[in-house]
Amino acid sequence: MRPWGHPHDCVPLATLPSLPTADSLVETRLRYHEEPMRRLLGIVLLGCVSVSAQEPKAQPQPDERYKADILVVVAHPDDEAAVTPYVARALDEHKRIAVVFGTRGSSGSNEAGTEQAAALGAVREIEARNALTTLGIGNVWFLSGKDTASQNVLQSLANWDHGETLEQMVRLVRLTRPEVILTFLPGTFIGEDHGDHQASGVLATEAFDLAGNPAVFPEQISGPMKRLEPFLENLRPWQVKKIYYFPDAEREDIFRGKGPSYSVKEVSKLSNKPYWRMALDAFRAHQTQAKSYLDRIAQMDEAQIEKMATSEDGWGEDQHYVLGKSVVGGTVTGDIFEAITPGAVPFVRPEITPETARPDLSIELGGPWSFYAEFRRAHGLANLPHPEPPEIALQGPGALVIPLWIRNRTAKAQEITISAMLSAGWTAENGTGKFIVAAKQTAAPRVEVNLPAPADKPADKASKKVEPQEVTVRAEANGQVIGEVKLRAELRKRALPQ
Ligand SMILES: [Zn+2]
Repeated sequence: MRPWGHPHDCVPLATLPSLPTADSLVETRLRYHEEPMRRLLGIVLLGCVSVSAQEPKAQPQPDERYKADILVVVAHPDDEAAVTPYVARALDEHKRIAVVFGTRGSSGSNEAGTEQAAALGAVREIEARNALTTLGIGNVWFLSGKDTASQNVLQSLANWDHGETLEQMVRLVRLTRPEVILTFLPGTFIGEDHGDHQASGVLATEAFDLAGNPAVFPEQISGPMKRLEPFLENLRPWQVKKIYYFPDAEREDIFRGKGPSYSVKEVSKLSNKPYWRMALDAFRAHQTQAKSYLDRIAQMDEAQIEKMATSEDGWGEDQHYVLGKSVVGGTVTGDIFEAITPGAVPFVRPEITPETARPDLSIELGGPWSFYAEFRRAHGLANLPHPEPPEIALQGPGALVIPLWIRNRTAKAQEITISAMLSAGWTAENGTGKFIVAAKQTAAPRVEVNLPAPADKPADKASKKVEPQEVTVRAEANGQVIGEVKLRAELRKRALPQ
């Protein structure tokens, strides 16, 4: 008879001393290599006899040391500074914080030494750990994503091995069992708009919807039942209660009132310093990213630091969040922990917004723009603010590529004419003119626009920057306009690649 073949014959496996964890299974495997099944059978039978006479035993629980109230998910070491002023406040309320970084920041710059690439990533990992240790946060993990210098979230997701890093992200949600996730807003807009920042928000949102689903990565939530199963992780599904985003867009008006705001000027009960000051102290670990800035601060007295940090550098600004979604209710602008009570909640399937009806012949923006439209639909985020028309900042002289979807749902091939309406000095290099889309097919043409050098800033100091220019791409068929897409593009002397 197989010793564990009939559960009613015997005790649950979890009560057997040598079986519950993967580590002990490895040990078990080594020991029983010499003395095969006989000894294992002996322990199991002994277990049957001794446990039946005992009081009921508490089942082992997940490790409390890794339970988080807030899981922060960002892309690069130093990105955590976007939330550390709020985190300092949350520490005052005894919240447990854990942080996930998507990459080690290996394609960044280095002000502190000569190290570059993977070596820089190794240095920046320690900088991030040291920064968070300053705040007493030790539960810090890194996904295996690679720092990707572009504004295109799809490029980052590809370079991060999306499936693999999502699996890692879901594992860390199940391990840390957070009440709330704080992450970058998944969207594209004029601002820092790093594709990696967006990717961290995408993965965190996907994990929010997947970690509670027992059908997703089931090997993570299955425990070993017998020896030679040291790959099963014995985690539990976990439904996070709320997810909040922080945008790094320049134009923040569309995000105002979409979530709570926090002043960071109060003094911490823990450190006797203002919250913003605790965040700045933590940031001092990031020598590779800001050595010259940090050296300047080191020369200042406390009053000078306060004046510079709070009036010029934004450390003292209120922290604004955007509510992504909540499965426990609460108000949009209420406290992040409003309506959250201790304990697990059941898995909630995301609400999918129905697909918008399209005419038989249609045109829409492709690339990251259509991805985000689908993403918001798939994750119940139809109310997530996004600029309309979409916007982007680009380096000039340079190029703007406008990816398109042209859908032909009719039963015959269609001749489509694409034209672009552009500002003076902007020229269409490629992608305009006539082409054929076969019956029932979707084509993915691109219009490429040559961009001039950005105009010098207006002499009038009051208007600080050059306004974005509107680009319109029009599609016509059978002498009729089938649709237009619009994009606002701003030219800069420096910008991340599109
Ligand atoms: Zn970053």
